[in-house]
Amino acid sequence: MQAIKGTHHSSIHERDLFWSKEAELVHWETPFEQVLDFSNPPFAKWFVGGQTNLCFNAIDRWLESQADEPALIWVSTEVEQEKIYTRRQIYQEVNAVAAMLAAQGIRQGDRVLIYMPMVPEAVFAMLACARLGAIHSVVFGGFASVNLAQRIDDASPKVIICADAGSRGGKVTPYKPLMDKAISLSTRPPEKVIVVDRGLFPFEPVPGRDLDYATLRKQFDGVEVPVTWLESSAPSYVLYTSGTTGKPKGVQRDTGGYAVALASSMQRIFNGQPGETYLCTSDIGWVVGHSYIVYGPLIAGQTTILYEGTPVRPDAGILWSLVERFKVNTMFSAPTAIRVLKKQDPALLKKYDLSSLRALYMAGEPLDEPTAQWIADGLGKPIIDNYWQTETGWPILAAQPGIEHVQTKFGSPSFPVYGFDVRVLNEQTGEDLGPDEKGVVAIVPPLPPGAMTTIWGDDARFVDTYFSSIPGRKVYSTFDWGLVDKEGYWFILGRTDDVINVAGHRLGTREIEESINSHPAVAESAVVGVADQLKGQVAMGFAVLRDSAAYADPAAAMKLEGDIMKRVDEQLGPVARPARVRFVTALPKTRSGKVLRRAIVAVCEGRDPGDLTTIEDPSALEQIKDSL
Ligand code: ATP
Ligand code: MG
Repeated sequence: MQAIKGTHHSSIHERDLFWSKEAELVHWETPFEQVLDFSNPPFAKWFVGGQTNLCFNAIDRWLESQADEPALIWVSTEVEQEKIYTRRQIYQEVNAVAAMLAAQGIRQGDRVLIYMPMVPEAVFAMLACARLGAIHSVVFGGFASVNLAQRIDDASPKVIICADAGSRGGKVTPYKPLMDKAISLSTRPPEKVIVVDRGLFPFEPVPGRDLDYATLRKQFDGVEVPVTWLESSAPSYVLYTSGTTGKPKGVQRDTGGYAVALASSMQRIFNGQPGETYLCTSDIGWVVGHSYIVYGPLIAGQTTILYEGTPVRPDAGILWSLVERFKVNTMFSAPTAIRVLKKQDPALLKKYDLSSLRALYMAGEPLDEPTAQWIADGLGKPIIDNYWQTETGWPILAAQPGIEHVQTKFGSPSFPVYGFDVRVLNEQTGEDLGPDEKGVVAIVPPLPPGAMTTIWGDDARFVDTYFSSIPGRKVYSTFDWGLVDKEGYWFILGRTDDVINVAGHRLGTREIEESINSHPAVAESAVVGVADQLKGQVAMGFAVLRDSAAYADPAAAMKLEGDIMKRVDEQLGPVARPARVRFVTALPKTRSGKVLRRAIVAVCEGRDPGDLTTIEDPSALEQIKDSL
């Protein structure tokens, strides 16, 4: 822990020196004049005056040493296709796409919205925007027209690139009709729509507006487009948060700071080297996909795997088979994916040769101890929980094996990552809290390189939303609730909005969920606080069982409910005991796999759940309603 502490300390207290060294990991066409301009807090400008380009760092820079090595491996278990692109081939594809965008009048600063499934063209489109200095906004494929229209209105893209359709679990989701509807709902429609026709869903192109990707691709074959060198703080992209708590925010990211943060994290957090292979199972529509499917691995000279498919098709061994076949060194997934596997045959975890794999990283939601233990035992590999947000762009809390090997503790994302001056504060007074005291997790600005620079088009909302919620402190609130234990390990206990107040005791939803999940029959659970006349609030639990058939009998289910309650009683005390634990076969989640507690609370309190456009499976919410 000594080295981590030392690195963290120098990143905060010798900030400029620290980051000027990290900045050597990327190519600067023009060197920067100043490491940080923080003259207008909380707005931070990193590497002022320096000129660079994300696409150049991801592709061009590696052509000399690894032009003919695989750089992008696409595997689709949805359409049964695979394709390997070398760095030179990506270079050619990206140049052609950059040329087709330029021909539509796309210039530096213009927005291009990308609404695509996990196909290589999506990655080429992102990199092509970066090459031109255009600002991409990737919207998760399959979001409904309303979500899409909101984002089109906010980003006002000149061009949209979309596909005819995506596929999930073998079921085709048409994208093009959703896009057409979204554009008709939008008040700021694009001039052109470039469609990647995968032949999955027939559509009628809109004359004068729609263009065919493959036709343009041929037309611009072999054309090279010079890199547009961008001042470090020029925006690279806008990405909307997952929308778990309400209206999504357009997170704006810079160019130079992001390049440095990713290059640095690929070494110090992911402990990797150029030439290695990286598998991240997120989606390009989320921040994890932006940072660790597309930009991070490519900037670090690694091979990235783009996987279109679910973790259970053709069977629950698919991810591990990819690790074996492509000799994956680093893998990144989400607790929600692992909980899906928990309901499947554990023998599949042992079936493949995983000797190339160093560690499995996980982020997105609290990784409960039982799930962490289950996957660690199954794989025999270190599990590295890391905590971050769309806003921060890269991990805030994580073990950092590229700095030092740390003994991880299940349930904890370990320690603050260098660059993040992160604290646990009393929500009411803003005071720093001591060991084991629960409070809001906050970051003392400046936010480090790679973090959001503002909310797209709304500087005031950036300041009001993030820097104005903790009295007396102009700090960034994560709106997560947490604590640091006596040994310095951090724990995220849930969102501040979800903290349950039972007769004056404040409990994070995560604490109770952790306890419920420790019951061997449970695969996952969600706990919410529901208004109660006597106690103010009571906890309600909803659990998905590993084998629900075994508890189909009402008496067995009732006994199990009693057992689980007793367990919570013993582990956390009677105040934490849920009033009820109900069994369901699925929890309502966002499309990024986060439990929609806000909607569950509304249903439990008999209110309208409100905006449900980000929900993955509305029937899961119906089940909650029926179970009450
Ligand atoms: P919105 O901000 O629109 O409501 P969101 O917060 O779900 O949506 P993301 O930026 O995708 O959008 O998610 C970040 C949040 O996910 C964190 O603030 C935290 O609540 C949760 N989270 C991410 N990683 C972890 C982790 N390792 N442990 C605990 N919680 C995590
Ligand atoms: Mg959030």
